[in-house]
Amino acid sequence: MSGSGGSTKHVPQRTCVSCRGKKAKWEMVRIVQTTNDGIVIDLRGKKAGRGAYLCRQRGCWEESFKRRRLDHALKYQISSEERKAILSYVSEILGNAEESQKCS
Ligand SMILES: [Zn+2]
Repeated sequence: MSGSGGSTKHVPQRTCVSCRGKKAKWEMVRIVQTTNDGIVIDLRGKKAGRGAYLCRQRGCWEESFKRRRLDHALKYQISSEERKAILSYVSEILGNAEESQKCS
């Protein structure tokens, strides 16, 4: 929080469920619990459903899975398969090529 902001534009902000940092909506990645498809990453921010926001940092995603923050935020139990799929997808959109080389 900076109290010295003189900006007149209202920027919608979202809170990262992992680090609790606040950022402009478009700087975050939205993840949504949908009725039919389970957990999906919603890059356009248009999907209906319970959503949560995370920073564009791989660390925040890993942390949120470790601590089950996403599960809580979405009121949904994320399976390990879903986690893997989400993490690999996140790695792609974040462009962390080095990180994704380790195989499990
Ligand atoms: Zn974060």
